[in-house]
Formats: sequence, structure tokens, C-alpha cells
Amino acid sequence: MTDALFTADFKLTPYWWEHVPRPALPQAEPPARADVVVVGSGYTGLHAAVQTARGGRHTVVLDAEDAGWGCSTRNGGQISTSIKPGFEELARRHGAERADAILREGQASLDFVADFVAAEKLDCDFRIAGRFHAAHNPAQYEALVKRVTAQPKGHEVPYEIVPRAEQRRELGTDAYFGGVVYTRHAAVDPARYHQGILERALEAGAAVFARCPATAIEPDGQGFRVTTPRGTIAARDVVIATNGYTGPQTKWLRRRVIPIGSYVIATEELPAGLIDRLMPRDRIVSDTRKVVFYYRASPDRRRILFGGRVSHDETDPRISGPKLHADLVKIFPELVSTRISHSWCGYIAYTFDELAHIGRHEGLHYAMGYCGSGVGMASYLGMRLGQQVLGKAEGRTAFHDLAFQTRPFYTGNPWFLAPSILYYRWQDGRGR
Ligand SMILES: Cc1cc2nc3c(=O)[nH]c(=O)nc-3n(C[C@H](O)[C@H](O)[C@H](O)COP(=O)(O)OP(=O)(O)OC[C@H]3O[C@@H](n4cnc5c(N)ncnc54)[C@H](O)[C@@H]3O)c2cc1C
Repeated sequence: MTDALFTADFKLTPYWWEHVPRPALPQAEPPARADVVVVGSGYTGLHAAVQTARGGRHTVVLDAEDAGWGCSTRNGGQISTSIKPGFEELARRHGAERADAILREGQASLDFVADFVAAEKLDCDFRIAGRFHAAHNPAQYEALVKRVTAQPKGHEVPYEIVPRAEQRRELGTDAYFGGVVYTRHAAVDPARYHQGILERALEAGAAVFARCPATAIEPDGQGFRVTTPRGTIAARDVVIATNGYTGPQTKWLRRRVIPIGSYVIATEELPAGLIDRLMPRDRIVSDTRKVVFYYRASPDRRRILFGGRVSHDETDPRISGPKLHADLVKIFPELVSTRISHSWCGYIAYTFDELAHIGRHEGLHYAMGYCGSGVGMASYLGMRLGQQVLGKAEGRTAFHDLAFQTRPFYTGNPWFLAPSILYYRWQDGRGR
């Protein structure tokens, strides 16, 4: 590690928090009773709360840390359609009809965020930027082109093929072998987006309690008793929206999500003109590696925000920062002496079938497991979850009743992560 790589004001907190500091909420005691208690104040929890509060339910939202402290203010600000398995794989597992419905909801999640931001007039740098998905080897370029030119009927998404010879119109690098632009994918400032949803939840009458963890959740015959260090709340309905931070209070869920750290750096401000050479189209960017890199310019186009997974085991952002920087420089050699101003990480929730899950278990409502693509899907399923609590028919999604798998002896500590990442890296290196 070299200190010269860090700016004098280097921070271990997300760049996004510079403009949107964690919200100051009153440190009051939660009420003894509520219709709905939502555990977790990220996109899932707050979108659920907007629905239930607007539906007339007395809604209390709890977060163990500050509001939005989890992934929802730490992410890369990229919005895609959020579904990892393709149509054929989904159809093999769940039949063509369900596969069709799942993929449609992936598209719906992207539309939902766009519509919500517009309807609620949220000021959050939302933009249909298009995502350049870059091939890290020639075989992946061929595979990408094949995939977009043979899209399943009814699920065609707009795209542009970018051969390597034309790549510099998208990205100032020769490190890739061409790629595909998904033109509908969007960019957002994740913390400003979160702040906007928080404001709407509060305006609708939800009460949000930060630094107030749910330490126990027990059935009490009529609903649940939610224990916190500041008192107990009796609630008819409880929503679990803890995703990669799901704890021992909900053991059944904890056994079904795999928390994985994802790491991001922000560069210091770049010299004038450089960003226009490196990212001329202002796209969001990802690549075809299994251990993916994702990056973009900051909304003011002065910095690059570069994310990925740089170690087998979880590590300190002080250690991940220089490693991410080294990978950034492999893509943009001009940035060799550019310093890092922020380095941070957060925990995504992976699932054993690479799909998000929503439903009800032993009376508790939940949605989680967005597998690293949750800006759209957590928003959308959070909204559906709120409708589910209200008993509305439209709260039912194509994700309902999908078996939420676990594995024997898995209790929430992913001991298999380091060997899996080593294996995927090896595959990335071999050109798979
Ligand atoms: C570094 C990083 C980059 C990412 N980049 C992207 C991206 O570019 N695009 C994309 O689509 N997705 C991305 N994601 C994923 C996306 O951010 C998440 O899927 C999404 O924000 C999940 O929202 P959530 O509300 O379900 O969970 P979170 O936002 O993680 O919120 C969960 C909350 O639950 C709270 N909590 C946990 N236990 C308790 C308890 N017992 N009591 C009270 N509160 C509790 C936590 O404190 C936390 O605030 C990224 C994630 C990370 C970490």
C-alpha cells in the first residue's frame, strides 16, 4: 500500500455521501404499536413503506445504522434490468411462461424507477445513459454479439454493437475487444435517489428510526413483537428488507442469502478534458468478467467511480483501494498518477439460484437477494412488497413461490466464497 495514492482528504466513506450526508433523524422512541414495521431502510424497505404509509397503514421503519446506510447509498449508480439467468435457463428451471414473466419484471423494474423519479420529481441525476458492456477477450465479444442478435422473441432489448475498431467512441481504451451498448440502461446518484424516497416515505407519514436495530422478532398471536434497544413495537405486519445485512433475527432468510463485499473507489478530480477522452459518451460501463468491474463518471464528470471485487476474502477498503486503482490503470494507463479520494465497500446479497426472492415466511414479508443488481429490482420488489402487505392483487409477482434455496450446513457465513472467486478469476484469465 502506498500513501501517495491517497489524497490528503482521503475518506473511507462513499463518495455519494459528500453531497448527501446521512440524514439526521430524531432520536425518539418508537411507538409501542404500529400496523407495519419495516426492518431496513434501503430501497426495498423505503419503497415498501411508501406503499403502506400511502395505503393508510401506520408504518414504522427501523435501521440498525443511519437511514440508507447499506448498499442503497454505496452502490455504483447503474440501473439495468437486474435478471442474471437468460430466458433458456429460466425456462429450463421454471417453464417458458414463468421465464417470460420474470424477464418482463426485470424490464418493469427499470421502468418503475424511471417513472417513480419522474412522477415524484426526485432530483437524483437519473439519466438513460446506456451501458457499455465491454468484452474482456475476443471469445466474450463473439458471445455478446451472438446473445444480442439472437434475443428471445418478445424480449428483445435495444442495443448497439461496438466492434473493437470503433471502441474509442465509447471508451478511451484499447483494453477491451469491443462490446455492446444496452441503450436503455440508466445512471442515477444512488444517495440522492435514496434521499428522495426517504422524503416521500416521511411525507406519506412513515416514521423512520435510525440506529434502532430490530434485535428480536417474535410472533405474539396477533402479529409480531419487534424488540429494539429503544423499546418493543407490536405490529400486525413485519417487512424484512435487510438484504446483504440480514442477521440472526431472521435465521431462515439468513440461510438463503450469501453476503458478498463489493468495493468502489473514487478518483480525485481529473484534469479538464481528460474525462471527455476516457468516457466520451458518459455511459455506465461494466465488463464480461465473471468477477466484474463496473464504473462510470461522477455526475459532475470530474471523477471516475470504479468498482469491483479485488480480493478472495473480505478486506479493508484501505487495502482494496490500491488494488482497484491498479486495475483501473490497466484500463486507463493515463490514470497512473491519479490519486484516490474515497474507497468504500458494501455487502450485496447473492442467492443460490441467482434470482431475487419476495414472499412471506412464517408470516414475515420479505424481499431480498438482488445478486448485485438491486437498484432497479430492490425498488420494484420493495414497492410490490408494500402492495403485498396491503393485500393488493398487484403485489403478486412472477418471483412469488420460487423455491428460496439454501444448502446443507449453510448458516449465512459464506466459507465457499474465497475458493469460488479464485476459480472465477482463473476462468476470466483463461478467456472464458
Ligand atoms: C459497492 C456496491 C455497488 C453496487 N452497485 C450496484 C449498481 O451499480 N447497480 C445495481 O443495480 N446494484 C448495485 N448494487 C446493489 C444494490 O445497491 C442493492 O441490491 C440494493 O441497494 C439493495 O437494497 P436493500 O434496500 O434491499 O438493502 P440495503 O440498502 O443494503 O439496506 C439494508 C439495510 O438493512 C439494515 N439492517 C440490517 N439488519 C437490521 C436490523 N436487524 N434492524 C434494522 N436494520 C437492519 C442495514 O443497516 C441496511 O441499511 C451495489 C452494491 C454495492 C455494495
